[in-house]
Amino acid sequence: MISSNKNGNLIVISGPSGVGKDSVIHRILELDPSISLSVSCTTRRLRENEKDGHDYFFVTRGEFEKKIDNSEFLEYAEYCGNYYGTPRQPIEECLCAGKSIILKIDVQGAEKIRSNFRECLRIFILPPSLQDLRERILLRNSESQENLDSRLKRAKLEIEQSVNYDYMVVNDVVDYCANKILNIIYGLEEK
Ligand code: 5GP
Repeated sequence: MISSNKNGNLIVISGPSGVGKDSVIHRILELDPSISLSVSCTTRRLRENEKDGHDYFFVTRGEFEKKIDNSEFLEYAEYCGNYYGTPRQPIEECLCAGKSIILKIDVQGAEKIRSNFRECLRIFILPPSLQDLRERILLRNSESQENLDSRLKRAKLEIEQSVNYDYMVVNDVVDYCANKILNIIYGLEEK
């Protein structure tokens, strides 16, 4: 089990597909550049405007499974037919250096992190409504109909689990949501 020194926080941020996690996290990192973001590995295909090594490390199933065998992941999960995993080494280095790092992972990953890392801070981003979420995924226009249905179904299940998180924050306005999460990280928000 890894542990942080007094300045480094392990911050888990989850939320359903399309809720705007990327925009909120991007704003958090702009507001506080001392915080890092973990880059996960995935077997899903690269979307237009994503960059390998920046948004994800895009790997084949075979490569991912080799990494599982080599214990290279802090946690990993399957989500809508693809693998996603958090590389262990960068997280350990960050926390050992006393820096805070955000993991943008799903509810299964968040649960695994909680059992291995009691001090982590877990925040769930909620959409203003399910209708709003559907529209945001449609706007993104990157999913097939089948994948859209599967992501929406999954979103409902994930939202039900948001009660297990330390904090829930609604993403209505990105800037407001990012500032609220920063206040949580700084210990300025009441539960
Ligand atoms: P997307 O395909 O939309 O980029 O991500 C799908 C889901 O996988 C999102 O909920 C995202 O937070 C989650 N995810 C991304 N990276 C990881 C990871 O390393 N581990 C886990 N458990 N989930 C991840």
